[in-house]
Amino acid sequence: MKYVDVILPLPLEGTFTYSLPEDFVDSVAQGVRVLVPLGRSKKYIALVDHIHENKPEFQCKPIIEVLDRAPIVLDSQLRLWKWISDYYMSPLGDVYHAALPLGLKSLDKYKPKMELYIGLVEKYRSEESLKVLLNILNRASKQQKVLIDFLTLSHWDTLENTVPKEQIQEITRDELMNVSHCTSAIIKALLDRGILYSYEKEVGRLNTVSQPHLDRIKVLASAQQIAYDEILRQFQEKSVVLLHGVTSSGKTEIYIHLIKKALEAHQQVLYLLPEIALTVQIMQRLQKVFGNRLGIYHSKYSDAERVEIWKKQLSDEPYDVILGARSAVLLPFQKLGLVIVDEEHETSFKQQDPSPRYHARNAAIVLAMMSGAKTLLGSATPSMESYYNASIGKYGLVKLKTRYNNIQLPKIEVIDIKDRQRRKVMSGPFSTELLKAVRNALAEGKQVILFQNRRGFAPMIECKVCGWVPKCDNCDVSLTLHKNLNQLTCHYCGFTYRIPTECPNCGSTELTSRGYGTEKIEDYIRELFPEARVARMDLDTTRTRNAYERLIDDFSSGRTNLLIGTQMISKGLDFDNVSVVGILNANNMLNYPDFRAYEHAFMMMSQVSGRAGRKGKQGLVLLQTKSPELPIISQVVDNDFEGFYKNLLQERLMFHYPPFYRLIEVFLKHKKEDVVSSAGYELGNKLKSWFGERVLGPDKPAVARVKTLFIRRIIIKLEIGIDYKKVRGYLHHAQEQMIKNPRYGVLQIYYDVDPL
Ligand code: ADP
Ligand code: ZN
Ligand code: ZN
Repeated sequence: MKYVDVILPLPLEGTFTYSLPEDFVDSVAQGVRVLVPLGRSKKYIALVDHIHENKPEFQCKPIIEVLDRAPIVLDSQLRLWKWISDYYMSPLGDVYHAALPLGLKSLDKYKPKMELYIGLVEKYRSEESLKVLLNILNRASKQQKVLIDFLTLSHWDTLENTVPKEQIQEITRDELMNVSHCTSAIIKALLDRGILYSYEKEVGRLNTVSQPHLDRIKVLASAQQIAYDEILRQFQEKSVVLLHGVTSSGKTEIYIHLIKKALEAHQQVLYLLPEIALTVQIMQRLQKVFGNRLGIYHSKYSDAERVEIWKKQLSDEPYDVILGARSAVLLPFQKLGLVIVDEEHETSFKQQDPSPRYHARNAAIVLAMMSGAKTLLGSATPSMESYYNASIGKYGLVKLKTRYNNIQLPKIEVIDIKDRQRRKVMSGPFSTELLKAVRNALAEGKQVILFQNRRGFAPMIECKVCGWVPKCDNCDVSLTLHKNLNQLTCHYCGFTYRIPTECPNCGSTELTSRGYGTEKIEDYIRELFPEARVARMDLDTTRTRNAYERLIDDFSSGRTNLLIGTQMISKGLDFDNVSVVGILNANNMLNYPDFRAYEHAFMMMSQVSGRAGRKGKQGLVLLQTKSPELPIISQVVDNDFEGFYKNLLQERLMFHYPPFYRLIEVFLKHKKEDVVSSAGYELGNKLKSWFGERVLGPDKPAVARVKTLFIRRIIIKLEIGIDYKKVRGYLHHAQEQMIKNPRYGVLQIYYDVDPL
């Protein structure tokens, strides 16, 4: 008797064993989907991981059906899934769930797209009979016209005797209606008369427009060429190379050359970006060079489209280059040769919720190693981890210190807003210097970017009399005011609330908003610069897939000239005409109670500054802050990444943080605070008995209740070199013991490995 171990699309650890009825033995293989029973009546689409003859000790059920003729998940993918599940301590079922588009996991979700085609009935497929037919139709001129259009489109009009001189083309009914400007009734008449016939055919959703006109690849400037050669040289010794190139140094062009080289060697390339907004611009640049060999994959694509890309990657004609956000790392690749992780420092590469909480950059490096491929990480502000790995020789390192065309990096002026607030010379969130710079830029026909890292109108409203602040019923956070929507919103659970007219605490009607979100900045700007063509880019304005494209196209083409945005605008966008960038309040980023706050703030400020003056004259950045004296501010001004990195590294070493220590955060969640609190202590003590001083907490995280669940967190700091597998074993063991305690019935325990 044979057995199969399968992965179920459920948050369950490991694999599950079923028996394999004789009939299925030949059709089952690793990576094939099978229908399996679970519990009394449920059925799931499971994925075969392993076929064997080891009879399990328990009675196992047989699989019900085999669903595929060939594997839909490749061996390299399964190995990556297991690595993700192990390393990030996420159930394998969660990884399966995250990787596969819905249409491949559920029996009835994916429907192939069908289209109606029109053909010419066989007896009219000769010059002679067509002539007769067209004569007959003299009395039905509309039908005659449609038929003539059809013959032209399909090339049946090239018949010589019974042989068409040109290849016959298949024509859809929609196409015919479109060209002929006719109603479906006329086509129906031709069908009813037995002149034309119709048939259905499966068509893809993927863009199959004919090859666009391709641009020639740009010639690299000498600094770029040196970097390019150096990358290739270092690839001979290292699997991973970090390209540290200042903003607008032309890193993307170097990637394009590397991709071209990989394609010439018949290899596939995965190009990962942190943000969908970015894929729009880079897609346009890559499409000009690689045309239809490029496929795009991210979460704003419909599930049906994602199913089709998945299937295409398994076919004989896969996309050679896949450009995508995080989840693209989970696609099938048959001959991966190169992975590019652009803006590798970006925290959005790490999935926060739900599980698996994986880092796509690290997963991509692992995938590349498993596939014998190379990985290039690129950034103007590398992450501490990557830069450290490069500095100790684990990764290669290539630097590009000048902007393309020797354009100067922007001039950064620091503006002390504390001082100006005291002197009462601020106009709302703007200093006079910033307003002047905006005015000048617009007058010169230039563009402006304003960065404010908060969406909504204001981060909170407050009672002027008693200080009451409305909070979410489900979460431990104050509500954000969204004035355009006329509501308060919780940014943690998404719940919305009516804006109160009076304070429930003291009855006062004096409720004011505090702080600035992008919406409020937009209101100010529209009032101060009525002539400006303003756009706003944040989570609220980019809910749909096309919204990104429109915002970026409008700004690129100059239809808008002042762009306000959150961190979304800081990431690698390439606009030609931006001369001024304003950072409205750097302190928003510096005041987080998190050891990474400065790292993130440095990256954000440097990156958003990098959007200024990318072509032509040197750009100007106005950096408003309440703490101009901080070293980080002058490091941003001087573009002193190395200095910044050195300081931070000292600190990390001293306080036992990455890259010298690895962190695992253990989260506990429960509806009742007393339950989660005592569970936190119990688990904390248990872990301390094994790991000693390495365990911190339990404590309450900054937001200690989300979606009605109370949260406790335990932090474990592990020195490099510790037996990590053993640690995971202990953690799983402790978790099992906790869950067994009936007091902790529905307690949730999960992990965030390498939290950001
Ligand atoms: P980065 O990715 O480092 O921010 P980009 O690759 O976006 O920089 O380059 C900045 C700008 O310079 C882009 O508009 C790009 O088209 C242009 N550019 C870079 N390298 C070249 C080149 N070799 N030839 C022509 N234009 C280039
Ligand atoms: Zn009040
Ligand atoms: Zn909430």
